[in-house]
Amino acid sequence: MSFNQLAKDRPRLLIVGGGYVGFTVAQKLQTRIKESGGVVTVVDPNPYMTYLPFLPEVAAGNIEARSATVPHRQNLRDCELIDGRVENIDHANRKVTIRGIDEGPEFELPYDEIVVAGGSNTRTFPIPGLAEKAIGMKTIEEAVSVRNWVLERIEVASLTDSEDAKRQALTFVVVGGGFAGIETIAELEDMARTAIERNDRLKVSDLRFVMIEAMGRIMPEVSKDRAEKVVAELRSRGVEVLLNTSVSEVDRDLVKLINMGDKSPAGELATDTLIWCAGVAAASFIKNSDLPIDERGRLRVGADLRVTGDDGPFDGAWAAGDIAAVPDLTGAGPGGFCVPNAQHAVRQAARMAKNIMAAHQGEPLQDYYHEGLGSVAGLGLYKGAATVRNIDLGGLPAWLMHRLYHGYAIPTVDRKARVFTQWGLNMVFGRDTQPLRHLHDPRRAFEKAAGVKVSDAKASL
Ligand SMILES: Cc1cc2nc3c(=O)[nH]c(=O)nc-3n(C[C@H](O)[C@H](O)[C@H](O)COP(=O)(O)OP(=O)(O)OC[C@H]3O[C@@H](n4cnc5c(N)ncnc54)[C@H](O)[C@@H]3O)c2cc1C
Repeated sequence: MSFNQLAKDRPRLLIVGGGYVGFTVAQKLQTRIKESGGVVTVVDPNPYMTYLPFLPEVAAGNIEARSATVPHRQNLRDCELIDGRVENIDHANRKVTIRGIDEGPEFELPYDEIVVAGGSNTRTFPIPGLAEKAIGMKTIEEAVSVRNWVLERIEVASLTDSEDAKRQALTFVVVGGGFAGIETIAELEDMARTAIERNDRLKVSDLRFVMIEAMGRIMPEVSKDRAEKVVAELRSRGVEVLLNTSVSEVDRDLVKLINMGDKSPAGELATDTLIWCAGVAAASFIKNSDLPIDERGRLRVGADLRVTGDDGPFDGAWAAGDIAAVPDLTGAGPGGFCVPNAQHAVRQAARMAKNIMAAHQGEPLQDYYHEGLGSVAGLGLYKGAATVRNIDLGGLPAWLMHRLYHGYAIPTVDRKARVFTQWGLNMVFGRDTQPLRHLHDPRRAFEKAAGVKVSDAKASL
């Protein structure tokens, strides 16, 4: 793709990132801006918004991967869409540098206004061996790979005579006891249990799930009491929950642990599977820009969602969501800023769309203000945890609330219908525990047919 194929001579509102914030702003403004003679351009390497709260359910096979994504082309028809990655923002000269998904040459794109909505990346630490071994739970591809991997490990374990190899294959380690980590381990345990019940060479007691959390508690988003109940529930299902513990080193298949207090060794786990859910950090491309960022790498914005530096707001630059430090005017957020979650992201996006139009019309902007409604989490079929308006719920009521809330919240009627239909079909026919193999190397079968030697080395996540 080159600049020649893109709109010229029309005022451009450029949206960097088509996730929660970018998708919502684009959806709300696309027609109005087009009718006023401008163009909304959305740049994202993915041609869809990912509904991240559904990743644990995708990993557990309750929802098909594509149903947890909302396609840009079908829903942002009045936008100009670019499948690419913004690598640099030069706001002083109102242009970005973009690299298309084919990794071809970079090209520059001018804009009049910019919405920076690039979200976040998984937060990692310089732990030896971590990058080589672990996988995150932040993209649809990761969720699909984890699902296939866990189910494949169960099959591998059921065919080995070595107790050590079996134990290693059936040990699943998740690091990070926030919402994403807890939902991931709970949903995977639920799926693995069903898969093992269908395999008469294994017993449920062969499974080992381990949750590693550096703090003294899990799920800071729910009350302490509810979080302790979740720990008790996970332990009753056989999940080992290790609090005040972290990973010091990963030596191939050996995950070495330390106590967070005195930094003493806290044992080792031989495992094929290490899933890293230890929080998020603002998307790093923002460092390649002349916009102001704070000490945590987030874009500095005012409560009206304009990018704001020491000398006041930057004209024509907006940001929200995980990439931005948005002041939390309720005073509830840590350090005075909104926590990075979807509840804030969609509401910030709606406020931003109104403020962008207000700015165009010379009207006053309004500050973003939202009192948290609470949180809901799914912990496997018929199990959940929720704190809503200071009321704690667990078990079936919390699980129903989780499903109703997210089934309703995923954008577009198309996706809502698909998700509810899949949940319904799973209720009737049971959970699908079949892995799809060789998604990493789909040419393998063809190479084999053509007589090319195919590696039989041990697979990795
Ligand atoms: C597993 C998981 C479960 C979660 N569950 C919940 C939940 O239950 N409730 C809740 O409130 N929140 C939840 N969250 C958090 C929530 O999903 C995020 O806070 C929200 O998605 C943030 O929205 P965003 O628009 O800032 O970023 P995103 O939705 O992540 O969108 C960012 C977009 O920017 C794109 N992008 C990145 N880099 C570039 C670039 N260089 N150029 C162009 N585009 C780029 C990305 O491809 C992406 O599409 C969960 C998160 C995860 C990972």
